[in-house]
Amino acid sequence: MNRNLDKSQAAVADYVTTQAKKALIKQKEFLLHGKIHAYVKNAFTEDIDLGSVFKTIENIIPLDFLSEVDIIYIGDFEELKERRVNALYDNGALYISNEQSSEEDLLDDIVHEFAHATEDTYGFELYADDAIEKEFLLKRRHLYDILSAHGHEAPLQQYLHIGYRQEFDQFLYKEVGYEKLTHFTMGLFTSPYAATSVREYFASGFEEYFLESGDRTTLGRISPALYTKISELLN
Ligand SMILES: [Zn+2]
Repeated sequence: MNRNLDKSQAAVADYVTTQAKKALIKQKEFLLHGKIHAYVKNAFTEDIDLGSVFKTIENIIPLDFLSEVDIIYIGDFEELKERRVNALYDNGALYISNEQSSEEDLLDDIVHEFAHATEDTYGFELYADDAIEKEFLLKRRHLYDILSAHGHEAPLQQYLHIGYRQEFDQFLYKEVGYEKLTHFTMGLFTSPYAATSVREYFASGFEEYFLESGDRTTLGRISPALYTKISELLN
């Protein structure tokens, strides 16, 4: 056996792999589900292979859910910075920040926004019977009791508004704080952010459903109406 030859072969193999990886990272255009175009306007700040993240998404989220998604942009967008978010879905376009710490983070962001895209596609199926709203409102009433008992005062009326309201968002985020909120919402919401609005309730449940598939029972137990709706959409 020629050890030196083996070593140089390994070095060549390493080089080829590194070059292939670099080429993938440099790639600017991608296709999701063979249909939805994605453009990388500014390269990711970390070594992230968007193609591999897309493959994961193709395995978990059906194209039917995304029929309202026209295009995906990755870049350093002002709008994202202004709103202090990593991603946003607006009118068929998904904008994703190129500042991602890992492929896992990117996957979370995309799946979250795809939940909102799914709401666009299946608005009627999801919300016409009010099952998700009712479930969310019961949880909000429960949260009101918990937070009031711990001295965090906000009028009940604010808890009974299901849409996004900055004032209530700030109350949860700033006055209560997410660390305490995580503790107070355990077993009630799948994440503290789920308490923000009915749409974020849905998106958080959607993330749990598709990204924590080993533990779907948790979502089924905490949010049975939401869990049932997503299962129905899949069938
Ligand atoms: Zn959201």
